[in-house]
Amino acid sequence: MITYKCGRCGRITEFYFSREQTYKLKQCQCSYCNTVGNWQLYDREIADVILEREDARAKRIAANIGPAESDVNKCKEELKALAGQLRQREWQYNKCQTSIAKGQMSTSEIDTARKAIEEITDKMVAATQKLKDAELIYLPLKEQAADLGNRQAVNAKAPDAFEAAKNVKRSKNGHLKLYIGNRNYVSSHGTQNSTKKARLLDVPVWSPGLNVAWVEGGISAKAVFKIKLNAGDPYADIPESVLQAFRETPTYDAAEFFRLCKAQGKGSLLWYDKDGKSRPTWTALEIWVLLRAGYRFTFADSKHDGAGRKIVLVPPPG
Ligand SMILES: [Zn+2]
Repeated sequence: MITYKCGRCGRITEFYFSREQTYKLKQCQCSYCNTVGNWQLYDREIADVILEREDARAKRIAANIGPAESDVNKCKEELKALAGQLRQREWQYNKCQTSIAKGQMSTSEIDTARKAIEEITDKMVAATQKLKDAELIYLPLKEQAADLGNRQAVNAKAPDAFEAAKNVKRSKNGHLKLYIGNRNYVSSHGTQNSTKKARLLDVPVWSPGLNVAWVEGGISAKAVFKIKLNAGDPYADIPESVLQAFRETPTYDAAEFFRLCKAQGKGSLLWYDKDGKSRPTWTALEIWVLLRAGYRFTFADSKHDGAGRKIVLVPPPG
């Protein structure tokens, strides 16, 4: 994935072209102004563009989430009512059985009771399907809304996140150093002391755009980004085959990066593949932002993590 700017309207768009495929741009139309093939590579800061898109998406979600939620609730009410009816019919059916056993009732009456149960059961199957369909619309909206955070707070905090990373203090060996990685693992690292805490994204609200703002703050200061790996936890580690790809190509093509994450990094620090979701992790997003800014991977031995597992993304020279 790589970002281009429309030469006519100035809007930013992503295309999934590798470096070799940029000739395809000639045929691409701007979805805002319909101009074809007028694209310039855009490798400058992108947090504001992402935050703006998040605002627009949050607005659309807010408009749809209310009706979707009430649909789900209606379906749940319907199911509850049917379950009540079913209990009642089953009670009647059992009563019929007792009466038949006592010779007080003909078997045809129990057939009627059984049919009534079958009818309600059919209705419940249909209502369950309806609930599932309604949830299929509602739950993703709810999740997307949660992912976008409280917009007012996110927009207020994004500049703070940018500044915090931009003003990171030098380490003992003179590096402006920031940490990225699995959020739980990295933040547990940050609890060790305030210097470490200041090297990671530490804000009470979060969205991808805010995260990108923090990374770009570090980029503007030419900070280095160390990927914290935790060998015991697949979700906090990167598969060896992927690391090998980075070793072979330290300036990995940002356009190809997500493809690699998906192909070889599922269930790792790079690709979230759980609960029916399949998307780049926030760490992958951070690395992508660094790659598109010209950062490259460096590898060294780590006392803590073993040979070749000290991975630091460093800015382009100059
Ligand atoms: Zn345009």
